Parts: sequence; structure tokens; C-alpha cells
Amino acid sequence: MSKQTMKALVKTEPKPGLTLMDVPVPNAEPGQVKIRILKSAICGTDLHIYNWDEWSQRTIKTPQIIGHEFVGEIVELGSGVTQYNIGDLVSGEGHIVCGTCRNCMAGRLHLCKYTIGVGVNRDGCFAEYIVIPAENVVRIAEGISLDVAACFDALGNAVHTALKFDLTGEDVLITGAGPIGIMSAIICRHCGAKKIAITDINPYRLRLAKEVLPDVWAVNPNEVSTSKLMHDMDIREGFDIGLEMSGSDAAFTDMVENMENGGKIALLGIHSGNTLINWDKVVFGGLTIQGIYGREMFDTWYKMMSMLQTGLDVEKVITHRFDYTDYEKGFAAMKSGESGKVVLNWA
Ligand code: NAD
Ligand code: ZN
Repeated sequence: MSKQTMKALVKTEPKPGLTLMDVPVPNAEPGQVKIRILKSAICGTDLHIYNWDEWSQRTIKTPQIIGHEFVGEIVELGSGVTQYNIGDLVSGEGHIVCGTCRNCMAGRLHLCKYTIGVGVNRDGCFAEYIVIPAENVVRIAEGISLDVAACFDALGNAVHTALKFDLTGEDVLITGAGPIGIMSAIICRHCGAKKIAITDINPYRLRLAKEVLPDVWAVNPNEVSTSKLMHDMDIREGFDIGLEMSGSDAAFTDMVENMENGGKIALLGIHSGNTLINWDKVVFGGLTIQGIYGREMFDTWYKMMSMLQTGLDVEKVITHRFDYTDYEKGFAAMKSGESGKVVLNWA
């Protein structure tokens, strides 16, 4: 007789906070897979939902289990699922796509207009079990730690953004040394970037970046101007590649100003919509600005695991680990800004 109820972190009412409570265990319907969660990681999005900011108020329907970054093992296969076995160690793509729109039909699943977010538009993984479509399941390759596998959603954002443009031999500016910014810097180093600068206004995160990658320039833009930074790095004309990972309008505006002609910016950070950038620089400088959403399905996952198996090491970006019952401590660490990735243990 399998368990009827499970522990889950639920947004029960439209207000700040989360409730740890017993809820019914979901069953795997046809085409779905039930996964026992071993570890999950807290994303900035989860913090937004916890805080009940304006975006969450518009987006989240209560009651709902939140969370979308996880690793676990398959415990049940819905009818028709033949590509997986009970006991497989897996994570899951948090974007569930329609499969029938023009982009989906063309294989560009990450551009589906009808994307549904796990833990955002439907129940998520901050629970003992989750059920997701078999198409969203990703088997974990050998030799990858559970903690890192729990962060695949965010690491996938970093991989997608960093690999958007060829950065081998190029000078890279990363704005924002959050977990995704620092993981991107590690990817840039792994892929043979020339010089890497990462900026943040948070001293803890600059220290973490420097600790993880001693050869990057990690600077506070309020203390060191980008022109001074370029001078210190012996970069004469501008950065070749920009990875915007702060969501700060000031950082994006400044990045545009400091790109080499022909430079390429991959924009992951979410901006206010009123950001003023220097369009002359974009037009006469021939810049490319590429928005990045989620992960490419499933190239990003494939590349991410291949890189982890060949020396990419992001373990140090995980700074906090808690039992799920201590989730308040996990959210407090995220809120403080004095953290990298925060992992919750459900096993
Ligand atoms: P985070 O909030 O942990 O990190 C952002 C960092 O930017 C913080 O450390 C902050 O101090 C820093 N920052 C603020 N102002 C700055 C400035 N002027 N210059 C330099 N740094 C500055 O976020 P994260 O989880 O690492 O994610 C990075 C960004 O990507 C966020 O904006 C997030 O919303 C966004 N995101 C987008 C997608 C997508 O699919 N497009 C997915 C995940 C995250
Ligand atoms: Zn679609």
C-alpha cells in the first residue's frame, strides 16, 4: 500500500510565507511519471512567491505546491510510459510545452507560447513526490552529485545563456554574481573564454565569485567604473560578449555602453521594461542582443551534463543545505543575499 499523504510546501493563501503541510500524494496519470524527491533547490522565483510580490499576486493561484528545481527517483510510471524504469535517478524540465504550436512543431520547444511552469502554474516539487509528463523527465548522467543535479534548472539557465554565443577566446562581461552569474562564469572558463569580469553590488557574492574563480575580475560597479575595469583588464575597445544576469537596468545600460563593436549580449536578467539603452550603440556598433528564456529542450540539458562529466565544477556555488523542515532557514538565506544556491533535503 503506497503512501496516501505527503509533506509539501504550499502557498495556501494569497499572502507572504509558505505552509509545510500534509497533502494527498499525486498519482501518475497516463503519460506521466511520479518521482520521489530527494533534493530540491530554491530559485529566485520561489523567493518571489514566498514574498508574495506583485508578479506572484498576478501569477500564482492558491493553494499550490511551489518549487521547480529537483532531483529524485522514479517510483511510478503512468500507462504508456516505456522509456523509463522504476528507480531511475532523474530531474525534470520545469517548462511544460504544448507540443503543437509552430515553435514546438519546429523543435524550438523553449519558445512555446503556451508554456506552463512547474511550481508556478501547477503544483511543484517542494514535496515528497511530484508528477510530471514523461517528456519533461531528464535522466541524470553518471558521476554527477545529487546536490548539483538538484540545481539543474538554474545551471541550465547559465548554460543556455553562456553558450548562446561562441565565447572561446573572447572577453566576457557578466553583470550579476547571483548563483546563475557565478555558474556562468565557471562555464565561460570551462569553454575557454579569454578574460572574464563579473560585477555585483553585493560584497558577499563578489567574494564568492572570487573564491570559486580566482582569475576573474570581480568588481562592484558602484566602486569601479567599467572603463576603469577595462583598463585594469587591458581590454582596449570593449567586451566581446555580455551576459546580463542581474535584472538591473543600470547594469544592462552600462553593459551596452561598454561592448566592442559587433559585440553580443545574451540577456537572461528580467528588466523593468522601461530600461533606456543607447540605441546608437546598438545600431552603429552592430550589437546583437538576444533574450534567453529557460533552457533549450533538450540540448541545454545534454550539454550541461556533458560538461559536468568533463570537469565543469559548480559544487562551490551551493553554499547552504537544509532539511526540508528547516525551509524557513533556506528562504532566510536566500532573502539575505548572503548565499549561493540553497538546497533542501527531502530524502
Ligand atoms: P539573483 O537575484 O540571485 O542575482 C542577481 C544579482 O545581481 C544579485 O546578486 C544582485 O546583487 C546583482 N545586482 C543588482 N544590481 C546590480 C548591478 N547594478 N550590477 C551588477 N549586479 C547587480 O538572481 P539569479 O537567480 O542568479 O538569476 C539571475 C537573473 O536571471 C535574475 O534577474 C533572474 O530573475 C533572471 N532569470 C531569468 C530566467 C529566464 O528564463 N530568463 C530564468 C532564471 C532567472
Ligand atoms: Zn508549443
